[in-house]
Amino acid sequence: MTPGGEVVVALDVGGTGMKCALVRPDGATVHAERHATDAARGPEAVVGTILDVAEGLADKARADGLTPVACGIAVPGVVDEARGVAVWSANVGFRDVPLRELAWTRLGLPTALGHDVRVGGLAEARLGAGRDAGHVLFVAIGTGIAAAHVVDGSAAAGAHGAAGEIGHILVRPGGPRCGCGRPGCLEAMASASAIGRRYAELSGAPATAAEVADRAAAGEPLAGEVWADAVEALADGLATGQALFDVATVVIGGGLAQAGPRLFDPLRAALRERLTFHREPRLVAAALGDEAGCLGAALLALDTLAKEPR
Ligand SMILES: [Zn+2]
Repeated sequence: MTPGGEVVVALDVGGTGMKCALVRPDGATVHAERHATDAARGPEAVVGTILDVAEGLADKARADGLTPVACGIAVPGVVDEARGVAVWSANVGFRDVPLRELAWTRLGLPTALGHDVRVGGLAEARLGAGRDAGHVLFVAIGTGIAAAHVVDGSAAAGAHGAAGEIGHILVRPGGPRCGCGRPGCLEAMASASAIGRRYAELSGAPATAAEVADRAAAGEPLAGEVWADAVEALADGLATGQALFDVATVVIGGGLAQAGPRLFDPLRAALRERLTFHREPRLVAAALGDEAGCLGAALLALDTLAKEPR
């Protein structure tokens, strides 16, 4: 085998699709493919697809003269990274699935299981928009809001695999009901879905968060109000995050980050207003797009490998 021909099999499993790749130890992707998750088939079928795709990638690596050395899998929901178990997931239906062991057995490769947002944060902190900072908070804002606190390239998972659920910080007591059942969570105010839903309720016309941002920028008062409320709620959540973590850089990813200055300019100002003695973090857009989870899964696998005897 040629030196430097080592790759990691990496999968980022989402509710609708799986982003999969062969990634070199330096973070370069040498091959990428995408597959449908088709979660409606049930968790067992999804696990079957994950194992088939992972094995196919390892085979592809060998066929291309590369050496697969490890496998990293990222999944949503509650993930027990220490035990390698997908504990719970609303959109994929996992309930205590020992995915790490299943993949390790099937592939014969050391395997790591990670949480999609935590490994996304890992990738942004080490290879992306947070790479110059030792303390990074990565916040993914899409259909939900979740975060990863990364210190010196490692993301804390929490005692129960549920660290970083910043979307469920209570920001508006008595506010809109969150998917978790409680009224007033950040996610119920400021996720992309919540912004679209709120605008639709008030205007009677459906709109995406991006359209709300466009209309707000064009001067439509209702859109401006909904957008401003979301930004204020986000600033409340980020101020809490900064009080807890005192990071150097906050990286905002997920669909909402695509609003660019329409999000970042007012968010920066609103966050600044809320901070007293805490230092203001640098607030930047994610750099790796939707590849962050896959790259992060690869990084997690490499970290595991470094701790495992070969
Ligand atoms: Zn909630």
